[in-house]
Amino acid sequence: MIMKGKKGVVLGIANKKSIAYGIAKACQEQGAQMAITFLNERFEQKLAPVAQELGCEGRFYPCDVSKPEEIKALKASLEKDFGKIDFIVHSIAFAPKEGLKGRFTDISKEAFDVAMDISVYSLIEITRELKPILSENASILTLSYYGGVKYIPNYNLMGVAKAALEMTVKYLAEDLGRDGVRVNAISAGPIKTLAAAGIGDFSFMLKWNAAHAPLKKNVTIEEVGNSGMYLLSDLSSAVTGEIHYVDAGFNIMGMPAVEFDENGKPTIAWNGESK
Ligand code: NAP
Repeated sequence: MIMKGKKGVVLGIANKKSIAYGIAKACQEQGAQMAITFLNERFEQKLAPVAQELGCEGRFYPCDVSKPEEIKALKASLEKDFGKIDFIVHSIAFAPKEGLKGRFTDISKEAFDVAMDISVYSLIEITRELKPILSENASILTLSYYGGVKYIPNYNLMGVAKAALEMTVKYLAEDLGRDGVRVNAISAGPIKTLAAAGIGDFSFMLKWNAAHAPLKKNVTIEEVGNSGMYLLSDLSSAVTGEIHYVDAGFNIMGMPAVEFDENGKPTIAWNGESK
């Protein structure tokens, strides 16, 4: 019961395939008590059974992070429920479809602003608004992807947002370190979720990752969940400002194990063995 006595809030559960659900489940299994949020009424009904399963009945709140008043209301609800909280999971990202395919140069300012607001600024705003109710040794976790470090086809605008998110984690970690509060990110390998469905050719990303990662597989929300739970727990009490890869090792690869067909076209080597 690594999380026994810990109380927190998880933002970003859309359904039971969400990475945030994997993290919430791992925390619940280790004894944590939580509140979870939903985006709007459309998701309230769908998520109600999930809230019940996670033991959050009565602690199930609306929070569209583009609405500052909903973040303020969330703080008031959490304070009423728990007094202080020990952890925050920010598992939220959004970019208009035009930003996730096509030519990078075609991205509009409007799409850019929306993606940065929802996927990056929201972490700063949530941290600031919930700061007065954070306990000593509280831990904040967000989710990133390798496309914020290196080029990934179609990840386009979200790649820029993730780069900004990863630096936000480091600046927040420095700022809040003096208060004992830690801020980290998990950079997860690709997982088939609702958000991922918006990325062009996502199924190819899954194949490519499994083919080239050292562990020759894709990761699951349970695996990301367990690593997330560690970063939220006291087991990681000296870890802050970290971007922790949970990607079957994909990020360490410098040269993918590609084979060439008879026409000299590269094909994926499924097991990395030469012919
Ligand atoms: P997901 O299940 O679709 O979760 C994304 C969440 O963001 C949803 O709950 C969505 O709410 C929420 N959201 C979007 N706009 C919002 C807003 N304005 N206010 C509040 N919530 C909002 O997909 P996921 O893959 O688990 O994504 C979670 C995080 O992991 C994201 O940051 C994503 O970039 C990151 N990540 C994903 C992968 C992957 O391959 N899946 C890999 C690495 C990192 P609604 O669904 O209700 O709109």
